[in-house]
Amino acid sequence: MTGPGTVTLRIPGLPPLRADPGVLLVPLVATFPLWWGLRGNSPWVAAIVVPGLILSVLAHELGHAITAQRMGYPVQQIRLSTEGGAAVLEGTTIHPPPAITWAGPLVNLALGLALLLAAAALGAAAPAPDPGPYLTPPPAPTGLARRALLWLGWGNILLGAVNLLPAFPLDGGHLLADAIRRRSGPRRALRLVGLLGMVLSALSWVALAASVAAGVPLWLPPDWGPNWDAWRSAGQGPRALG
Ligand SMILES: [Zn+2]
Repeated sequence: MTGPGTVTLRIPGLPPLRADPGVLLVPLVATFPLWWGLRGNSPWVAAIVVPGLILSVLAHELGHAITAQRMGYPVQQIRLSTEGGAAVLEGTTIHPPPAITWAGPLVNLALGLALLLAAAALGAAAPAPDPGPYLTPPPAPTGLARRALLWLGWGNILLGAVNLLPAFPLDGGHLLADAIRRRSGPRRALRLVGLLGMVLSALSWVALAASVAAGVPLWLPPDWGPNWDAWRSAGQGPRALG
């Protein structure tokens, strides 16, 4: 699936990185309140946050990929596209060890915490702006850096948390399915995680409608499709989805 504008980056020691221009879509929609209307230093904050969010998704996938490589699971490539990111393992590894799955969201949670601490440190260091003769004080550089850090910090916390939701194809869904599979078998794992995923998908539509009404569109996974497929396939004979 190589579309126009796809770039492939090769860095020694890492799997090939393939990025599709569609990777810009979600960060651009998420930062809509920043760049819309071109107010104050907001567009500059967006200019930092949009590439920062793409790098955050890349950090998530590198977390999966580097952990997989260290555990002896070769990684074919890392893909960044409209659907977010994916680290594609080589061969037929249907259920990789949970440590590989945990690594992605944990990278985002750790990054988010570090960025929010940096924002707090900047906030403490900067004195309250003196408006002086201006009605609106000119934007201070620390204001710009601090806002970008806050956006990226919360963005990473959200990325980590959303990826841990118990639904397919998210990391949290695979982790829960792994745990259920070991205790009660693959069919029960597909049934339960598929069902949770459908409930969460319905909730994400409610959240989308509410956020559109509030003027800040917020689209969150999971999709209905993979969870419906998992739930349905669990009822068909002894076959299990990968
Ligand atoms: Zn992941």
